[in-house]
Amino acid sequence: LTSIGDEARIALDTLAGRAAGLVNPSLRLGVTGLSRAGKTVFITSLVHNLVHGGRLPLFEAQKSGRIARAYLEHQPDDAVPRFQYEDHVAALVDERVWPDSTRAISELRLTIEYESASGWGRMFSRGRLSLDIVDYPGEWLLDLPLLGKDFGAFSRDAYELALLPARSDLAAEWLTLAGAADPDAPADEMTARRLAESFAAYLRAGKQDERALSTLPPGRFLMPGDLEGSPALTFAPLPNLADGRAKPGSLRAMMERRYEAYKTHVVRPFFREHIARLDRQIVLVDAMQALNAGPAAVADLERALTEILACFRQGRGSLLTGLFSRRIDRILIAATKADHIHHESHDRLQAIVRRLADRAVERASFSGAEVDVLAMAAVRATREGTVRQGRDTLPVIIGTPLKGETIGSETFDGESETAIFPGDLPEKADIALKGLHGASQPAEPAIRFVRFRPPRLERTAEGVTLSLPHIRLDRALQFLIGDHLA
Ligand code: GDP
Repeated sequence: LTSIGDEARIALDTLAGRAAGLVNPSLRLGVTGLSRAGKTVFITSLVHNLVHGGRLPLFEAQKSGRIARAYLEHQPDDAVPRFQYEDHVAALVDERVWPDSTRAISELRLTIEYESASGWGRMFSRGRLSLDIVDYPGEWLLDLPLLGKDFGAFSRDAYELALLPARSDLAAEWLTLAGAADPDAPADEMTARRLAESFAAYLRAGKQDERALSTLPPGRFLMPGDLEGSPALTFAPLPNLADGRAKPGSLRAMMERRYEAYKTHVVRPFFREHIARLDRQIVLVDAMQALNAGPAAVADLERALTEILACFRQGRGSLLTGLFSRRIDRILIAATKADHIHHESHDRLQAIVRRLADRAVERASFSGAEVDVLAMAAVRATREGTVRQGRDTLPVIIGTPLKGETIGSETFDGESETAIFPGDLPEKADIALKGLHGASQPAEPAIRFVRFRPPRLERTAEGVTLSLPHIRLDRALQFLIGDHLA
């Protein structure tokens, strides 16, 4: 009798588990973008606004009062670091400093209890959606093309790129070292390390330099995560490879083995275990900084966006075919930090990003998911106002510039508020994409870009602290998860 009881219980448990899966489905949302695009700030603000019932008028489920509560739960993947939400909130809200940026992959589960919009749905008690948010560096995505290249092709491509005028001075040291290295000489750890280090230094310089060059693989050379110093990262391309196979025991054989190990142990598992399981994706881009830096940086942003979108391409010709079981059906390309410009320019920024995205979609022959674009600020660090100048009333933004920021001869102390006329984005996206500097050189950038401190949170009359202010975060939420809360 007992055993029948046990079996019945197991069967019931299984059924209950299945039912729970139906009532409590999960949605995996990937959050990516190149370093400093705003991933950490976006996730922190998204969670903060949902947990604290933020002002989200364009997020339908919240607006119609159907969200009963949202709370953090244990994430399903034990081997992935947790997104340090509490630390990031403490930095933003208590200290009013920007949190530490994304350095590696991390995850957070936010569970939303809601009432179904339909009477039919409501009959089956309350709905529950577990949103698994996966934060990862965009740099890692750009490794995907390596899966289609052997060491020879990787070396050739890297060498040709390094010789281009835009890069050759940054790559000078590596080019000299690599040119002097004999691929057929016996493998030597110190030579491998020197080559790897100088190659990594060259890749990093491309990012730090004012030129803000597009990111080149291997992605872990820029964002090593927990692999810093490991043999899988101690390789570099070798120019002047002879045809045929590597001599056993040679430098070339060693580099080749490590390159293949990088693909096998780093790139492939990352795509299989993380990217292939995503349902939705937001790609954050720092369009403001690119527009501010000039046409080369904008062209570069477009190139990076094209490469990122190509990673999510489905079907024939996609390197992911075979790795993907599930598919991403919605991708949002969002320009953050729109709080740096007046709201009159928000639609212009969005039009610029739309143009960039359209071109990227076309160039990546992208298909398979709905793509939308948005200009937003995950955290709004400024308010708007006007100042009179003679007869004119000028729109300004008001905020506390970070300590040490400057405009002209003025240097800010990080404590006092300032009104800044941020400048306008051009009305026509085409003009913006040709570059804001205009034809005549040298020119002031059209937008005056000052970094602000995070805002002081408002309190209600009852003394309740409101959630983090934002611009259009609700639109992002509606596109990314709204349909799952219907
Ligand atoms: P990550 O590298 O993609 O994780 O980038 P972060 O989220 O750390 O953002 C990088 C920096 O961009 C922050 O330190 C802020 O200075 C700035 N930032 C990001 N999001 C916003 C935003 O919504 N508004 C403003 N004003 N600044 C932002």
